[in-house]
Amino acid sequence: VCEFEPGAIVSDACASYNTLEQLNDAIHPYLHSITQKTDFFSYYRLSLYSKKCPFWDDENGMCGNVACAVNTLENEEEIPLVWRAKELGKLEGPTAQHPGKKQQRERKEKPLQGSLGEGVAEDCVVEYDDECDERDYCIPEDESATAKGDYVSLVDNPERFTGYAGVGAQQVWGAIYRENCFSKPPKDDGPQSSFQSSPLGGSSSNSFGNPQQLQAANQLRNVMQQQGLQAGVKSAIAQGTAAGSLTPVEFDDTCLEKRVFYRVISGMHASINTHLCYDYLNQTTGQWGPNLSCYEARLHGFPDRISNIYFNYALIMRAVGKLTKHVQDYSFCSEDPVEDTRTKNMVLRLASAIPSGPEIFDETIMFQDPDTLSLKEDFRNRFRNVSRVMDCVGCDKCRLWGKLQTNGYGTALKVLFEFDEHDSSNDPPLRRTELVALLNTMDRLSHSLNAIKEFRTMIDERDGVP
Ligand code: FAD
Repeated sequence: VCEFEPGAIVSDACASYNTLEQLNDAIHPYLHSITQKTDFFSYYRLSLYSKKCPFWDDENGMCGNVACAVNTLENEEEIPLVWRAKELGKLEGPTAQHPGKKQQRERKEKPLQGSLGEGVAEDCVVEYDDECDERDYCIPEDESATAKGDYVSLVDNPERFTGYAGVGAQQVWGAIYRENCFSKPPKDDGPQSSFQSSPLGGSSSNSFGNPQQLQAANQLRNVMQQQGLQAGVKSAIAQGTAAGSLTPVEFDDTCLEKRVFYRVISGMHASINTHLCYDYLNQTTGQWGPNLSCYEARLHGFPDRISNIYFNYALIMRAVGKLTKHVQDYSFCSEDPVEDTRTKNMVLRLASAIPSGPEIFDETIMFQDPDTLSLKEDFRNRFRNVSRVMDCVGCDKCRLWGKLQTNGYGTALKVLFEFDEHDSSNDPPLRRTELVALLNTMDRLSHSLNAIKEFRTMIDERDGVP
């Protein structure tokens, strides 16, 4: 029996939902332990406050609720060794760059003066914000010892309801969805979004402060609604991905790659909203818990959004599975070899539980056509813009998790499209923040699947369905 509304389903969608749910049941405990119980994966360093929104003045969209705040770690002693700037600083040096695997091999054969010290793994070297590899899908989070970064415990700052809403939040979602307008931007909607251009047409004054901006905002909303409608139909076609049956079907002039871009964003949005509905503050009782009407209003009536969460889970899972070899060679750098081995084994156990190859998600069918080469570049630049928009989120906690998850998806796309599963010699470097974001994003999706299952049970119980 199909558990979801017919709108978003193709013939094999039930199988794909079931497959992913079964995998999730098996995988969730590993993921949970990794993200909650290891220092490496439960802390994160990012620029939470130091970057200004590059697209508009965000003063009006700020959330003043207590629930929007993030407790950052100010005291060096509170920060686990593996994340301390002091420790990172130790490894800093003039030649401590990110050599690709090929250069590393060459260096081993013919060491350069001042190359990395004995026993210093590449992964442990300090990372620079502005060292953006051309194959990155995100603007890298700052890991340098000198730059202003904020340390946060992800465990102590869980993603949940904050009360951030209204025009500010809508403006951010609007700007994000606008990155999806590859070839057919809405008319009179300001400049088309492109790398570093403004999603709101270069506006720098207050949100919707004049009629032109209001018009632009309304158009964005229309686009979002239109895309929301189309998604229900489109997802019926692209849905097969999760079952490994995604075929590059042309639909409504939208190619596979563009559909995937939309689904990643919509799935991230749906997953965030699932979490806030699941961990909601009842303002009458002061209790935190699931809010069924929130779920029904935002997700249950939109099967395409739910299917996009499953789609994203499949995509991220495939990326993590593809990293098995990479993790085997990875240095976790905590200076405690026992802890490092434990962390590595946990990640390897997780990766080995994921079916290998295209069974879960087949990325090899994307960007195959020579015509899609420039599309890949466009895809990457647009995703980078999405990561920039995150600096416009007016709620600290939402910004933290928004940035982390964007980084997680960006990392997954990088792994899927730029990494070679069998020969890692030309793989781009993988930053620590990327690996942490990837696994925490997977954990968020895994949590969404569990929450959806619980919400469905609640609905069945309420409606007397046996
Ligand atoms: P919104 O969720 O703001 O959506 C706007 C419009 O987009 C909807 O009206 C609909 O037309 C369309 N839409 C909605 N969902 C989808 C989808 N999945 N796919 C396609 N179209 C869709 N709030 C919290 O309480 N906690 C958080 O941690 C949190 N994190 C956030 C992170 C980011 C990056 C952003 C931008 C917002 C975050 N928010 C968070 C706010 C939250 O996502 C909503 O914006 C807010 O609750 C207001 O919801 P809304 O009902 O107005 O619709």
